[in-house]
Amino acid sequence: MFNERITAWMELAEQRIEGKFKEVERIIDQNQWKVIRAFQKHKVSDYHFAGSTGYGYNDRGREVLDLVYADVFGAEAALVRPHFVSGTHTISTALFGVLRPGDELLMITGRPYDTLHKVIGHPQDGKGSLQDWGIIYNEVALLEDGSPDYETIGSSITTRTKVIGIQRSRGYSWRSSFNVSQIEEMTRFVKELKSDVIVFVDNCYGEFTELQEPTEVGVDLMAGSLIKNPGGGLAATGGYIVGKHKYVELASFRLTAPGIGGEVGAMLDTTRGIYQGLFLAPHLVGQAVKGSIFAAAVFEQLGFVTHPHWNDKRTDLIQAIKFTSAEHLIAFVQGIQQASAIDAHVVPEPWAMPGYEHPVIMAAGTFIQGGSLELSADAPIREPYIAYMQGGLTYSHCKLGVLTALSSMMEQGLLK
Ligand SMILES: *Cc1c(COP(=O)(O)O)cnc(C)c1O
Repeated sequence: MFNERITAWMELAEQRIEGKFKEVERIIDQNQWKVIRAFQKHKVSDYHFAGSTGYGYNDRGREVLDLVYADVFGAEAALVRPHFVSGTHTISTALFGVLRPGDELLMITGRPYDTLHKVIGHPQDGKGSLQDWGIIYNEVALLEDGSPDYETIGSSITTRTKVIGIQRSRGYSWRSSFNVSQIEEMTRFVKELKSDVIVFVDNCYGEFTELQEPTEVGVDLMAGSLIKNPGGGLAATGGYIVGKHKYVELASFRLTAPGIGGEVGAMLDTTRGIYQGLFLAPHLVGQAVKGSIFAAAVFEQLGFVTHPHWNDKRTDLIQAIKFTSAEHLIAFVQGIQQASAIDAHVVPEPWAMPGYEHPVIMAAGTFIQGGSLELSADAPIREPYIAYMQGGLTYSHCKLGVLTALSSMMEQGLLK
């Protein structure tokens, strides 16, 4: 399939990471069992998959789905719906659900993910953003070494601080992600200072990469996307919110209307995919994590800088690779696209995406539009030329994507 040099790099990398793969498999097994046990506890049956139309009253499949999610995430309640259009919408719903004018949202893990900037907005921006509604927003930057700045967090919490925001995943920035035990530490710290504060976690890309989830270690409210990890590649759309009962209920009033909440909402034909996707998610997340470990190992062998390193502890899917030129970056992203089953015939090109300062190139040959549990890669064309790769429904596909990218770099004379 690939030339001798590339095959040799692949074999070398796979030997090195064998032990790491064993660790990933142990996590898969435990999370798989956790999910199966939750299905069993709630006696999930064929009739739960039927879906509903109209108001969707008494949709037992939807009600049990919430119970299953709550158990898997160690939470009191859950709201799992195809009506969430994206991760951003889900996070926004959770925040608007619990915050009121005059309350403060304090983000303690630095600047949040790009798409949330407009949710936070500006005072009087006329867009209905959090700040437009009179919610106060502040954030505490991370320290130079990427860790939370506890001193500043401590001095920033006041009587009006209602929600503490934590983003688990690095997103598309060259910082470390926060694993569940670090999130536990942050939660304990802020609650010691203010016991009634609501700790909210943006859990996107984190689900099932570790044995526990943030809601199992004291986090009050959490949200994520179904076209990322927990949708298992099968959920066609949607998001989930889990956490304390009263906060999830407030979020449900925001999603639909006060007094209606989660009691209505036709699932149409989405229910089976959401259940089966959750069943598959621990395994598929493991495949994607293996793919990221492989990519890190191969590119490190070739002298590129990666974040995280192949043998670092992981808490999300994202693998950042720092290339030495724009040509490498473009060859990498195009190579990932060429190895897709879907849309391999299109060649991604850098384009000026609205809201971004520099041209961005993206590879996404996916079954679910924009689904990023599927193999995908993004890169802004600017120094220091970092590509962010994530997902892969099978480890083989991740590996083939990386090797195709290497081939295309080699053909262009970009590898020594
Ligand atoms: C993907 C992501 C989001 C937003 O999800 P969308 O579906 O793109 O709106 C928010 N936060 C993090 C950390 C993410 O990875």
